[in-house]
Amino acid sequence: ALTAPTNMPVNGHFASVGQNGTANFEHGVQVIDEEKEFNSDLAKYLQFTKVAHSGFNYHVISVFGSQSTGKSTLLNALFKTDFGVMHEAERKQTTKGIWLSKNKSTTGKMSDNILVMDVEGTDGRERGEDQDFERKSSLFALATSEVLMVNIWEHQVGLYQGANMGLLKTVFEVNLQLFLKDKKSTSRSLLYFVVRDFLGTTPLQNLRNTLMQDMAKIWQSLSKPKGLENSSIDDYFDFAFTALPHKLYQPEQFTREVEKMATRFRDGHRDARRDPLKSEFENGVFLPEYHRRIPADGFSHYAEGVWDQIVENKDLDLPTQQELLAQFRCDEISREVMVAFDALVLPLETAQANTARTGEFTLLADLGKVMTTARSDAVTAFETEAGRYHKGVYQRKRTELETKMDARLKALFTGQLTAAHKLGVEGFSNAVSSEVKAGQKKGASYDFAEIVKTQKKVALQKFDSAAKASAIAGLSWSTYTQELTLYQKELDKVSAQLRKDEMRRLATRVERWVRSKLTDSVGLEFNALGSGRGGTGAPEKGAQPVEKGIWDRIWVLFTKTVQEAETRFAARAQSFDASPEEVEVGIWRLRRKAWGVLRAKVDEEMMEGNLLLKLRENFEDKFRYDEEGVPRIWRPTDDIEGLYTKARESTLQLIPLLSKFRHSETGSPPPLDKWIGHQPAAATAADEEDLTPIGGVDEEEGKSLEEETTILNEAKRQDLTVRFKKAADGVYVEAKRSAIGGMTQ
Ligand code: GDP
Ligand code: MG
Repeated sequence: ALTAPTNMPVNGHFASVGQNGTANFEHGVQVIDEEKEFNSDLAKYLQFTKVAHSGFNYHVISVFGSQSTGKSTLLNALFKTDFGVMHEAERKQTTKGIWLSKNKSTTGKMSDNILVMDVEGTDGRERGEDQDFERKSSLFALATSEVLMVNIWEHQVGLYQGANMGLLKTVFEVNLQLFLKDKKSTSRSLLYFVVRDFLGTTPLQNLRNTLMQDMAKIWQSLSKPKGLENSSIDDYFDFAFTALPHKLYQPEQFTREVEKMATRFRDGHRDARRDPLKSEFENGVFLPEYHRRIPADGFSHYAEGVWDQIVENKDLDLPTQQELLAQFRCDEISREVMVAFDALVLPLETAQANTARTGEFTLLADLGKVMTTARSDAVTAFETEAGRYHKGVYQRKRTELETKMDARLKALFTGQLTAAHKLGVEGFSNAVSSEVKAGQKKGASYDFAEIVKTQKKVALQKFDSAAKASAIAGLSWSTYTQELTLYQKELDKVSAQLRKDEMRRLATRVERWVRSKLTDSVGLEFNALGSGRGGTGAPEKGAQPVEKGIWDRIWVLFTKTVQEAETRFAARAQSFDASPEEVEVGIWRLRRKAWGVLRAKVDEEMMEGNLLLKLRENFEDKFRYDEEGVPRIWRPTDDIEGLYTKARESTLQLIPLLSKFRHSETGSPPPLDKWIGHQPAAATAADEEDLTPIGGVDEEEGKSLEEETTILNEAKRQDLTVRFKKAADGVYVEAKRSAIGGMTQ
């Protein structure tokens, strides 16, 4: 018997609308079912009808009125909706709870996105039970709707005790209750009376006056909350009236009037000259001040929150509801915008974490650009969606969102700076080293200080441009002055280390030079020993024996050579900005090393075989040449033995002389300790590391200067003496033989 929509079983139980897919939305959505449960499919329905994305560009109308007064019929006619209507022959309630449907009429002038709520009518016969729902649905409608349509029979107008008057009383009461707390917004609503079965005998103007008087009476009879005692009905409501002829008796007129009425559902504005009481709202019923300012994408959540409060009989506090809604939606929107943010930022975070773990730092390309885009896209999206909600909440949530993003972006930025730092320092060090190497290869004397200066500039520029390209302009955390200072310090530290290395290389070069110089000059001195009288070959007449002053000469040679090396070293070191302390340490090391070089050279010359050879040459020189330097031809009459003994004794004197590095006149060791000097204060452990201890200089060595300058020990001397004597004996025997042989010739 019911012409119910297909998804509404007649046994009174409604399937949860929408759960089987969007097909069920054909008849709208049941927002509140007869069990007073809220149906969250409303959100899906708003998505499905694309209202959810309309921001504030939507409207809500609620229809009230007694049972079976043709409300649903009217809505279907006005908005081409498909609300359930009662079959003519039956008298049974059809609309259960609250249904909502989007306007499907395409009448040109109607506003976009009109949402119509068909509210379960009160049945005059069973009012007691329905009163609770009437109150709840009134509250719900007032909290959500701009326009409240009240359907009323013409013959009921003026019946003050009628069901409609009870309904209006309820509406006024809950309105006071609702907007008492919300003084700021002073929400207004339009009460739109539709007088049905209008005969036309009484002008609509008269009916309106009667209704207005009745409402004034009701308003007066209300016990108003404190502070609102003198409030007027006009403070909260505007009124509009339309009369419609009987649908069944005058179907054509009904249709015509409905079509006319439909054109009123468009965006209106308040005309200052217009008397609200006389106004027919011809210019549109949707005045901006009626709008509840709930963004469409939050409407479902808001409606649910409001309904929950109503059902639990809690004080419905709309500002609180709006704040709660704002919090909920802002969080939701925040999560949504973070999805896009993550898509851009997560890969960067992963890449950075990986390089940090492996220690192979790399710069993330276009970091600043990507971060700027990710952040501003998120903020813009958030602003667009969430900006419509409660300002305070929106601001707070926006700050939260920005803080959350900035924490991650800052970490990326810091990571990037770390990478730029590591890479920059490494690059600087490598560049300097390779330039030095190239300079060494060319053999030209390269300018170390200049290399460092140039490369430092390059390194600083690289860091600065990397940092700049990784920053987000205008954000306080996106600066790097401190990091730049740290980087500069690190470059200075590395420069100092590189300079130290360069000093070492220089020291090595100078040492090498000292070694080759000493090898030559000291070698000559020792070679001279071979001729008992200085020089090689035949001694010149009257020449002094070389032996006596050998150590004096070697010491002078040595100190002069080192002095020259020091001058070269200091000049070069100063050219690359080495400090006086560093030069001092370098010279100290050079002296010690040079002494080592000299000792090694002397030890080489004094190796048993070498020395024996020199002694033998020295001896032979004295034995086989006369004072004039003329070779002797031995004759049996010669005092071979005497000459032999003299020459041998003379050469033997060399052994103790050569055994100790001593001044020829004072007999004391060279002033090695004074010459090397104290260890400079600036010398580090690293500077000492490769140094050989020197007796008499390094006290803890436990070796005296005497010992340091002792070249041959007692045992060696004795051994050498024995071996030399044997060699000399051999020469003597040979001389003897040659003397005898000369005679036999
Ligand atoms: P609702 O309960 O207020 O939604 O009423 P319905 O739209 O379901 O209609 C209830 C009954 O009133 C149905 O039998 C309709 O045919 C009938 N009806 C519809 N329009 C009119 C009208 O303009 N005048 C009268 N007298 N009856 C109507
Ligand atoms: Mg109905």
